[in-house]
Amino acid sequence: VFQRDGYRCVGCGFQSSPETAETELDAHHITDRTEMPNGGYVKENGISLCKIGASNCHARAEMFHSSGKSEWESGFHPDDLYRKIGSTYEVAVRASKKLCEADGG
Ligand SMILES: [Zn+2]
Repeated sequence: VFQRDGYRCVGCGFQSSPETAETELDAHHITDRTEMPNGGYVKENGISLCKIGASNCHARAEMFHSSGKSEWESGFHPDDLYRKIGSTYEVAVRASKKLCEADGG
């Protein structure tokens, strides 16, 4: 996911690097792993978001969960995030199902 996004936060454009991506970026699950087949560990459901600094886009994307699933921060709705990486919920679900087939069940 980091590689596809060029080690850049898709939320605010913060530029990380292969060496620092682990500490500076989060491979955020756009749809929660509990709501996806096989946990949704596919790049179609992943997006690079910064988890440091003032913008901390990952915290903003997670705010939906911490707010009791009542509201999304503007620009961080799953539909917005999917659009930014050229994916959709349906594409992500389909890819997640394939994950299972590839593992042989
Ligand atoms: Zn960011």
